Formats: sequence, C-alpha cells, structure tokens
Amino acid sequence: MSMSAAERKAAQRARQAAAGEQKLELVLDSQELAMLAHNCAARRPGREPYDAAEYIALLIRQDDARVRSRFRVISKRKCGKCGDRLPVRDCPCKGEAACWANRGWHETKLTL
Ligand SMILES: [Zn+2]
Repeated sequence: MSMSAAERKAAQRARQAAAGEQKLELVLDSQELAMLAHNCAARRPGREPYDAAEYIALLIRQDDARVRSRFRVISKRKCGKCGDRLPVRDCPCKGEAACWANRGWHETKLTL
C-alpha cells in the first residue's frame, strides 16, 4: 500500500529531524527577496534555478570556508600589545588602543 501525500510529508519531516535539520524563519525585505530570486536563476542560466533554501545553505557553506580561511590567516599574527595569537577575544589590555581586541573585529566582520 502506498503512502498518501500527508504520510510522505510526515516521513520526510521525520527523516529531516533525524538528520538534525531545522526549519529557520527568515525575514527579508523586498529588495533582498528580489536579489535572492534573481540570483537563484542568474547563477544557473538555462537550467532550473536554485531553490531559495538550497541557495542560502550554499551561501552559508561558502561563507564558512571564507571565515575559516580568514581565521587561518590572522591566527599567524599576534596582538602588538599583549602578544596573544589572533583573534584576541579577551585580554587585560583590551582597553588600550594598541590591543587587537579593540578594533580587530573589523578584520573579521562581514563587509559588503
Ligand atoms: Zn592585546
């Protein structure tokens, strides 16, 4: 006996939950939604566009690779003040301008 659509959907949800998948609600403005829809299609010319959730998941993975690479690079440096290896999260000299903990986050933040 084959499963109904509702049963298939329930089975899919159970599989996704078992795999640790979670639904995440995003609030995007109309410009972001338009960019998302445009780029889902633009990145696959002549082919079926990326699904929005697939596209966002790929962006997260792409950014994760950039973050890892960025931290690999900065971890070769040390704070000029306290000598701790970067990134310095907390440090007794963090109130001092020369300590990386002060402004270093500008090197790791997301920028456009
Ligand atoms: Zn420091």
